[in-house]
This record gives sequence, C-alpha cells and structure tokens, in this order.
Amino acid sequence: MKLPNYLADKWIVGSGPGTPMVDPVTGDELARISSETTDLKGALDFARSHGGPALRELSYAQRADLLAKMGEVLTANREEYFRLSLLNLGATQADASFDVDGALYTMKYYAKIGRALAEGKMLKEGALVSLSKTGAFGGQHFLVPTKGVAVFINAFNFPAWGFCEKAAPALLSGVPVLVKPASPTAWLTHRMVEDVVKAGDLPPGAISLVCGSARELLDHVREEDIVSFTGSADTAALVRSQANVLQRSVRVNIEADSINSAILGPDCAPGTELFGLLVKEAVKEITLKAGQKCTTIRRVFLPRQNVKAFGEAVTSQLSTMKVGNARNAEVKVGPVVNKAQQSACFEGLKKLRSECSLVFGGNENFEPVDADPQKSAFVQPTLLSAKDGLAARFVHDVEVFGPVITVVAYDDRKDLIPMIRRGSGSLVASVFSNDPAFLQEVVLGIGDLHGRIMAVDSSLGGQYTGHGNVVPSCLHGGPGRAGGGEELAGLRALLLYHRRFVVQGPVNCIKELSGLCADTNLLYS
Ligand code: NAP
Repeated sequence: MKLPNYLADKWIVGSGPGTPMVDPVTGDELARISSETTDLKGALDFARSHGGPALRELSYAQRADLLAKMGEVLTANREEYFRLSLLNLGATQADASFDVDGALYTMKYYAKIGRALAEGKMLKEGALVSLSKTGAFGGQHFLVPTKGVAVFINAFNFPAWGFCEKAAPALLSGVPVLVKPASPTAWLTHRMVEDVVKAGDLPPGAISLVCGSARELLDHVREEDIVSFTGSADTAALVRSQANVLQRSVRVNIEADSINSAILGPDCAPGTELFGLLVKEAVKEITLKAGQKCTTIRRVFLPRQNVKAFGEAVTSQLSTMKVGNARNAEVKVGPVVNKAQQSACFEGLKKLRSECSLVFGGNENFEPVDADPQKSAFVQPTLLSAKDGLAARFVHDVEVFGPVITVVAYDDRKDLIPMIRRGSGSLVASVFSNDPAFLQEVVLGIGDLHGRIMAVDSSLGGQYTGHGNVVPSCLHGGPGRAGGGEELAGLRALLLYHRRFVVQGPVNCIKELSGLCADTNLLYS
C-alpha cells in the first residue's frame, strides 16, 4: 500500500518504490510513501492562490469555528489514531495519549481562544503615533496575515501533536498549511489530514500533505511563506542555510533538539517530598514515549551527597517496569521508532558511557517482552552518572533520543549554573527546591538560555503540569541549540504567521483601517 499525497486539492500517489514505514516491534512493513514526481511547486502555488484567499475571506472568529470542526472530526477518529500509534510507533496507551490527546486538546484550545479576535481581518499593534505638528499625519503599526503558505517539516516523534500544534495557529491566522511529516511515522499525520479533508470543512488549498523525503520542497518556497521545522539540530542547520531560503529571506522557525535539565536544590535531602517528586518526574521522562520527546530530561543535577540515593530510587522503579510490545497490557515502556534510531541511541550511549558510570540498564542485548530483539527496536531504560560533570563533554552535548538520563553531581552552587548552561540553549529546565533564593538564582542564571523553566516547591502539593508537558497556553521553543524558535504561548503563536508593517498617513484613513482590526493586546491576555 502506497499512501497518496494531498496536493492542490487532489490525492496523488508518488512514483517509484517509495519509503517503507515499519512496525518497530515486529519489523513488519506497514505501508509506503513517496513524494517522487509530485508537483510541489504547483501545490504551493495552489495553496497561495486558492487556500489563502478563501481563508482570509473569513474573520478570525470564523476560522476559529473551522478549528473547532477540525477538533470534532479528529476526536471522532481518536481510536484509529491510537491504533496507528501502536502499529507505527509501538506506542503504549500513555504514549499514544501524549501525542494524540495533546493534538486534540491543542486544536480545541485554539478554536476556543481564537474567538476572542472576533471579526478582525488583521491586528492593530500599539497606539497611533503623531508624525506632524497638526496631528493630521500619523503612524500606526499593524500585523497582517501573510499571503503565503505555512510549510511544516516535522519530526517523527509527534506525528499527531506536531501537525496540530502548528496547523491550529496558522489556519487561525488565515494562512494555508502544507505538512511534510517525518517519513518513519507519516501514517498518523496522513490519516488525520485525510479525515479533515473528507469532512470537507476547509476550503480547497487550505491544507496540503506531502509524505516522503520531498527534499526539493524548500526550492519552491517564496518570500511570503513560512517554514516551520522540527527535528534534529543537524537538519535544522541545513534548512536554515538552504540557498532559496537564504536568497528570499524566507521566515524560518526552528524547533531542534535539546539537552534539557532537572535540578534538585541543596535543601532537598532524600526522603523529602521534593526529592520524591523529582525521582517520579525522572522516571516518567525516561519511560514515556521511550524518552523520545524533545523536552525529555537528559541531565539531572543533584547535590553530590544525594546522587547515590537518587540512583537507588530511580533504579528501584525502573527495574519493575516492563519494556516491550505494548500489545501486552503489562508493558509500560515501548520501543524507539526504528532500527536506525536504536543504533543512534547505542552510538550516543557509548559516548556518554565514556564519561559516566552505569547505574541502571545499558544492556544492548536485553530481552524485551513479547518481541524479537533481532526485529524490534528497543533500548533498555538507562541511568548514568557523570564521573566529573565539569570536565564532561558528551554529557552536555549528546542527545540520546531514547530512554537515557544522566545524573550530574554538583558540589557548589557556583558550578551549577555554568554546567546547566553547557546545554547551549534548551527547551526546558525544571528546578525542585523550597528555597526561594535558590529558585531565583537558577531562574536568573539560566533564563536567557531556556524557553521554559518549571519551578516546583512544596506549596504546589504536586499540582504542576510536568517537565515534559508542553501546554498550548505557554511558550514552547528554546534558544541556541534548541533552534531559537518560538511556538504556542496562546495567541502569541499567531505572530509567526503575520507580518508587521506601519502605515504612515492621514489619521482619518488610519482610523478606518484600524476599524478592520483586532487589537494585538488580545495576543498577550
Ligand atoms: P530529522 O532527522 O532532523 O528530521 C526532521 C524532518 O526533517 C523530517 O521530516 C525529515 O524528513 C526532514 N529532513 C531531513 N533532512 C532534510 C533536508 N535535508 N531538507 C529538508 N528536510 C529534511 O529529525 P527526526 O529524527 O525526525 O526527529 C528527532 C529530533 O527532533 C530529535 O533531535 C528531537 O529532539 C527533535 N525534536 C524537537 C522538537 C521541538 O519541538 N523542539 C520536537 C520533536 C522532536 P524525512 O523523515 O523524510 O527524512
């Protein structure tokens, strides 16, 4: 079975043998995809000439209604998305829920908050500035939806959420979308797009889908388009420096990999509530989606005297968790996405182990439950402990995209901040402490190199969203190595799909233009 692409309002099967998608547990081929000989330039032209104008005929509130309809359609097919998640990602129920339910929630969230922008056609930013003695001539900044296409190049680990978290703010802005899911797990995105297209609520050209490598896609993007990329830092560098992208100054948003941190304060000895919460968080992070989340904790910074107790606590939980085929109800940890990722994990682990001692796991030949180790792609959950965090290189630099976490001891608070910063820009850090001065010191010390910091103290009583959870009301993205991109953060996400410009002219004319607008203050409320 070769899955067709949806381009210029038509389903088109790419030529050639195609790329297989496999079940990471059985190794069986599930379907194939191909973008060969498809007209990507034509599809982008069609989206710009048909999808964009039809979307921008509508107000923000009407487009929010479209998102609500998409949310309903996707919710109606939720069970099927769980089935595909199991087949193509080996996902447990919890893994599938994280991706699929996260996607549905995000779509519905934007449908709900988008209504606040009401009947506006563009956004007015700030106050009118007077530019003349009489006050008759003034200037007003506006944000207008771009007349291009939002091109999404996505990573394999979130085929559902990755599509919805990008599509919702783009469509709400009035910008048509073309999504290219990562090849290994394109099936789920494909099915979601198919369901949305079948429902017939979106105008032709508002949504397009290309599955397969589609390496020439960026040759056809234009000044008015937006490229939103999620994936590894290496591919991000290629996308950013692509000749046509550079020549046309195409706006690019990058969400790349990240060596995220969790930090335990010196006040949290073993046996305290916060120590226990960090252990729980670390175990969840390492096992959920087999550690294949861009936000997964990779480094845990602990006061040196707590390292042993932390290792024992995490080990005792990991050693009871079954790793294997999620068709077995006892299994809690699934596979990585394919053999190539498994090899990449083993390679990364070798590097980390050259600087770390092994606390738990690390066995390349372990026996997964109900799966053939030769055919499947499992990585045993692994806990490492850095021998010398200050001298270590790989620990702060190698993202093993699997169930692997490294403990880094700190003796002195003055060493802690520089060590965290050696992640060179991350999506998220979480800090567990009841000492307000410590929390402040960490936030001020690392805030500029992080997109999100989650602080946890005992007053919360365990009520917090979680280190790895990206909530649509808050910023997702991070500087430096994490790509420098910004996504979500409520209606702020619409900024990526709008262009700022200023009109200098007769004040009366500006006031009339302003009457067509929603206020940008709504983006920040
Ligand atoms: P990847 O290998 O970099 O691929 C990402 C996407 O780029 C895929 O759709 C891929 O297509 C495409 N691609 C590859 N080479 C390309 C090129 N030369 N030009 C244009 N597109 C190209 O990453 P991945 O292995 O799918 O995803 C894992 C990585 O994503 C991890 O490092 C993780 O940290 C990161 N990630 C980050 C976030 C975030 O929000 N920051 C979220 C999820 C994942 P093909 O699949 O067809 O090759």
